[in-house]
Amino acid sequence: MKTDAIYKELGISDQVLDYCRKVEKGLEDRFARIDETAEYNQMKVIKAMQENRVSDVHFAATTGYGYNDLGRDTLEKVYASIFHTEEALVRPNLISGTHALHVALSGNLRPGDELLSPVGKPYDTLEEVIGIRESAGSLKEYGVSYRQVDLLPGGKFDYQGIAAAINNRTKLVTIQRSKGYDTRPTFSVEQIGELISFIKSIKPEVICMVDNCYGEFVETIEPTDVGADMAVGSLIKNPGGGLAPIGGYIVGKRECIEQASYRLSAPGLGREVGASLGLNTAFYQGLFLSPTVVAGALKGAIFAANVYEKLGFAVVPDGKEERYDIIQAITLGSPEGVIAFCQGIQAAAPVDSYVSPEPWDMPGYDAPVIMAAGAFVQGSSIELSADGPIKPPYAVYFQGGLTWYHAKLGIMMSLQKLAEKNLVTL
Ligand SMILES: *Cc1c(COP(=O)(O)O)cnc(C)c1O
Repeated sequence: MKTDAIYKELGISDQVLDYCRKVEKGLEDRFARIDETAEYNQMKVIKAMQENRVSDVHFAATTGYGYNDLGRDTLEKVYASIFHTEEALVRPNLISGTHALHVALSGNLRPGDELLSPVGKPYDTLEEVIGIRESAGSLKEYGVSYRQVDLLPGGKFDYQGIAAAINNRTKLVTIQRSKGYDTRPTFSVEQIGELISFIKSIKPEVICMVDNCYGEFVETIEPTDVGADMAVGSLIKNPGGGLAPIGGYIVGKRECIEQASYRLSAPGLGREVGASLGLNTAFYQGLFLSPTVVAGALKGAIFAANVYEKLGFAVVPDGKEERYDIIQAITLGSPEGVIAFCQGIQAAAPVDSYVSPEPWDMPGYDAPVIMAAGAFVQGSSIELSADGPIKPPYAVYFQGGLTWYHAKLGIMMSLQKLAEKNLVTL
């Protein structure tokens, strides 16, 4: 077959190809369900664009202050329609997920308020935003205290502990949907809804914010459909569809979005300013593609889980579990395994495929880290990427893939590299 031949030309052996084809064959039902979700979400996006009368005039660039940027304002209405919220901020000058989360938090919290995380420790970069790790400019420095309730064994919510932690200073609750690079499970939107209902039954006026990174379009509902007052994410992950070269979003209640906008620009200015600099087309088109891109990334994650689980490696989530984000962890058990895996992902990339990643001592990490990414947008993790710290248990975190076929090649190439080093027997 022609396809077999080109896989061979790319460096995939018959053995790896045969094994992976068998695995893929067993995933047809799963993939069909992912396609159903993608179909629904594609219609949701098109409906939102039609209802808000998206037109080619919205693709024009603004510069300077960016007053009356119709494209920007309409894009924000489209996001608000998709997430079923009153308002949205979708901006290139929200420069990352961490920045968007910082703006949402610091815009809505005041000195004397308390922030609560009822789902354990938040994503690494938020430790400095909050002041869990000492940091100049943290919320802690501005007199915002922080409280955390850890999850119970098995990743369950500690309802008793949460009830005890809510007090008269609790102003905002931050709920991280994805496990990120932690070992706890990722929460479904339904679980998040249950948690929010519980919190609101104790203190109805508390603001519930969801860190939605890596979760967008994985399900047919979003956290704002189940009571979240704000949801926040990065455009170089799911909703940018691989085309957004930068950006973040905050969707939610009018009051929350306005408060955030005064922190993003300046008090008095808010959302009226902020030029889109010609990026609107990429934001619209990326959002349009996002449901199918997310579906491809999900298929890649499920394929990876099954390819490696059947070879005896520990995988989280496992090959059969329901998915609530696009991240896949695989424990390879040796430094050589982590390195070979990442080198395979790199070798399958459309960009920089000829370079070979090596572990290095990245600032802020206690062990050397190896990263593979051959991406069109630097640091984009909706594109096929993998990384792992060189320390026990020698796990890699794998995510993304703008197309299923690319994700599939990446996984096959990773296995090929492991096979060549005799780290697996097929
Ligand atoms: C990626 C991510 C963030 C933000 O990261 P950035 O690299 O700043 O975009 C925050 N929370 C979670 C769970 C994430 O996965």
